[in-house]
Amino acid sequence: MPLVSLDELLPKASQNNYAVPGFNVVNLEMIMSAVRAAEAEKSPIIIEYTEDDGARIPLEYIGQFASCLAKKSDIPICVHLDHGNSLRAIMSAIKSGYSSVMYDGASLSFEENVKNTKRIVEVAKSIGVSVEAELGQIGPGEDNYTDPSLVEDFTKDTGISALAVAIGTEHGVYKNKPKVDLKRLEDIKKETETPLVMHGGSGLDTETYEKAIDIGVSKINYYSAMSNKVTKRILNELQSASEHHEIYLQDSVDLELKYFEEEMKKTIRLFRKKELMN
Ligand SMILES: [Zn+2]
Repeated sequence: MPLVSLDELLPKASQNNYAVPGFNVVNLEMIMSAVRAAEAEKSPIIIEYTEDDGARIPLEYIGQFASCLAKKSDIPICVHLDHGNSLRAIMSAIKSGYSSVMYDGASLSFEENVKNTKRIVEVAKSIGVSVEAELGQIGPGEDNYTDPSLVEDFTKDTGISALAVAIGTEHGVYKNKPKVDLKRLEDIKKETETPLVMHGGSGLDTETYEKAIDIGVSKINYYSAMSNKVTKRILNELQSASEHHEIYLQDSVDLELKYFEEEMKKTIRLFRKKELMN
């Protein structure tokens, strides 16, 4: 039953000083792992799929599969479209079971971003689907960081459920340790009650997670470092197994299900500040 939107997860997380992981998935196995991890930890999660990955598996199939599992689970699970760029993709996501969408108008002017986001919020909210939007542009370059002086107007004018902030995190595996601008995060938090979202959230140190959550981040998008670690582990295991016997695709699938579940459980505990990650 509990397929929920961000509105049912993030304000509660913010009040209780924890963050809900937004696990980006690239296939159906990762969805299975995420649901199993949430159920094992008895803790809510967000399953996310990026519009750009739709060339591999159409976003509609992911939405139908993930929302079906969420509805059967006892744990509140949100199924979220990550970085939706087009109205077409967003409407398609809403129709195929996503309970939440992100509209990414970060490359547009402030006015255009507000206008488009507001239009999507009007449609989505009327049917109980939450909307996340981005202000500033996530990635390197301080020029693109979120400007705290625009935050109040942006969140009020659009009526979004969550705000993705650009504070020095980046998508992908970090080559160098990122400098996360926590002072800016504090300045942003002072301007709004809207829950804040950290993108590029895997591969940071424990202290940064704790501080970001303390300041007010209540959703952390988590994929690259985990995916990189699990894939290398599977590769090594299959390589050594193949020296002793024949290997098949199910060997890889079984390892994928197991290792992603393990990593996701650790991440849930970390963001609930229950356990330090190794
Ligand atoms: Zn992102």
